[in-house]
Amino acid sequence: MRVAIASFEYEGNSLSLRIDRREDFERKGFPKGADVLEFASGKRTALAGGIGILQEANCDLAPILACKGGAGGHVDETFFQETLSEILDGISAQMPLDGVYLALHGAMICGVEKDPEGAILQGVRKIVGPKVPIAASLDLHAHVTDRMAANADIIVGYETYPHVDAFETGQKAARLLVGALRGEIAPVTRIRKYNAILPVLGGATLDGAPMAEVAAAARRFEEDGKALSVSYFPVQPWLDMADVGITGLAVTDGNPEAADTIAQNILDEMWDRRRDFELEAMTADEAVQAALRSDAKTTLLVDAPDSIGGGAAGDAPALLSAILKLAPDTPSAVCIYDPAAARQAFELGEGGEAEFRIGAWLDDRWHQPVSVTARVESLHDGSFTYSGGPAANLTTTLGPSAVLRVGGLRILCVSHAIYEHTDEHYAACGINVSECRLISFKNLMNFRKLLSEDVDFIAIHGPGGTPLRLEDVAWENRTRPFWPADDEAAPKPI
Ligand SMILES: [Zn+2]
Repeated sequence: MRVAIASFEYEGNSLSLRIDRREDFERKGFPKGADVLEFASGKRTALAGGIGILQEANCDLAPILACKGGAGGHVDETFFQETLSEILDGISAQMPLDGVYLALHGAMICGVEKDPEGAILQGVRKIVGPKVPIAASLDLHAHVTDRMAANADIIVGYETYPHVDAFETGQKAARLLVGALRGEIAPVTRIRKYNAILPVLGGATLDGAPMAEVAAAARRFEEDGKALSVSYFPVQPWLDMADVGITGLAVTDGNPEAADTIAQNILDEMWDRRRDFELEAMTADEAVQAALRSDAKTTLLVDAPDSIGGGAAGDAPALLSAILKLAPDTPSAVCIYDPAAARQAFELGEGGEAEFRIGAWLDDRWHQPVSVTARVESLHDGSFTYSGGPAANLTTTLGPSAVLRVGGLRILCVSHAIYEHTDEHYAACGINVSECRLISFKNLMNFRKLLSEDVDFIAIHGPGGTPLRLEDVAWENRTRPFWPADDEAAPKPI
């Protein structure tokens, strides 16, 4: 059984100004051919999970490339087209094939191509023909299109948020692919969608959260033998496209009608709970004041509108400004994407003091830089290895990074806005969460991994590339009406 494998993962955001190019992907590793297997070895990515299962089944693997970009605004169109061609040319060169496994995110944006993953899957289908099974794994925030569903036999989404099951999702997709290759199953995939998007902050699949109930319903269909796999996609919400919406998906054994029914059922499970996804949030000033009143030893201040994992720039100084104003002597830390401030600190050297203008380095639509006189406390190369999550065991870098000191506040200025998993980025630069009364995070979910009896969190709202209030965004391309922007009693299928 000869199986081609590739990964091309990226989460786009229409509100973000970030553009990711070849060098941004290469910085995270971009192996080709046989090097893909070595690169994936020991990792906990979806691709690594898929490879393990295919190897156990004695498949003859034809690795094409592995490319994992994290989240941002959009992928440079030329780079997308070059990588698409590389995948398709690689698959053509490996023909005849018995199967294909692709690890994708599902919410990529590039310039001209409006459905990048649909283009990848359709391109592969054209080469391998209708009879060769194609399996794809996706992030839970995928924007699943009809073209994607029509060109894949098997689509499997992450089950968890925070994402802790990328590896297992790759395994699940590959197991179904092996079953299809052996002729044991005939998988068919169907999707159902509503014209609705849900806030990410309330989208955890942890116990007691609304998505946990959706997940449980999906697992019951699998355990009862009614479906091979059931997935739910609350969708990356900051995609300004007409056909974006929450999606239910089912893979059944040769039964498209049942797949349709189950996909609809899961979609309704999400729709019925839509109002439960809203969580309380405060302004940055209110959050700092509330944290100072709190009994928690450490409060994580979650800068939701500037979430790097959702594609925002990571350069908003809202919490920096609030802490300087309201808690200047409190032991605290903020991390901010500002390559110019980092460079200035390196030029000064450790111990140097100067006035810095920090923040709004890439995206000045929401905030102005903050001027502050600070001392350079320490300088770092910013490398670290993810301890878990969808990038587990991958090494990345914040680039040249500087810790600046003002009163009780340490300001970590980094040269690359990097997906935050837990506190690895702070630890890489000598900042210990437990020594901070207040500390900022620029992600919407992974901060939960740090919560404990002593550690609480407060989310802030406000303008930014990943705003919480989806109804306030000036959407230009979304089909109206949609929930939550329009007061719709009935869901609208799309
Ligand atoms: Zn996600």
